[in-house]
Amino acid sequence: MKILKERIMKDGFIIGTKVLKVDSFLNHQIDVELFNEIGKEFKRRFSDDEVTKILTVEASGIGIACIAAQYFKVPVVFAKKHEATNLDSEVFESEVYSFTKNKNYKIRVSKQFLKKEDKVLIIDDFLANGNAAKGLISIVKQAGAEPTGVGIVIEKAFQDGRSKVEETGVRVESLAIVESMCEGNIVFK
Ligand code: 5GP
Repeated sequence: MKILKERIMKDGFIIGTKVLKVDSFLNHQIDVELFNEIGKEFKRRFSDDEVTKILTVEASGIGIACIAAQYFKVPVVFAKKHEATNLDSEVFESEVYSFTKNKNYKIRVSKQFLKKEDKVLIIDDFLANGNAAKGLISIVKQAGAEPTGVGIVIEKAFQDGRSKVEETGVRVESLAIVESMCEGNIVFK
């Protein structure tokens, strides 16, 4: 997706060797017009698939998923990272290792919002080692529902997330694929 790649080149910062900061349009400040184009592109790429729900994880996935959902005309469900007293005791749960925070955390979705009839498109901001996406796929499968695909805004192809997700049999579509980030240079696939 050309405008997304151009924006990453213009406003992205590399932290260390593996983390890409895109706070000015994706992870802190949100460029809604760009999100709208991202939503349309997800719809184009998954136009042949039946989708009844979009599933993401808080916090950064929510904005992207909501804008995409307007094109799919389906509800968004987001997995919660924090145990809340008002969260149903009946939950699907999965443990995820966070690559950026270097620790495990749990994600949960109330059993009310995922049913076995659902065809679920998973959407997230980044794909690194695939743990968040695999945790979400696990939650969909616990519900007996079908994961129809994983839509990612930025994939880092030098990490092994894609192969880990594809091993589960679920298709991955990424709108920008970063092949390498060496010495301040971002190279796309
Ligand atoms: P994974 O679970 O695939 O290892 O990592 C994906 C999750 O970690 C995403 O939900 C995203 O929030 C975060 N993440 C991974 N890599 C990056 C990165 O380079 N930049 C940012 N901003 N977030 C990342």
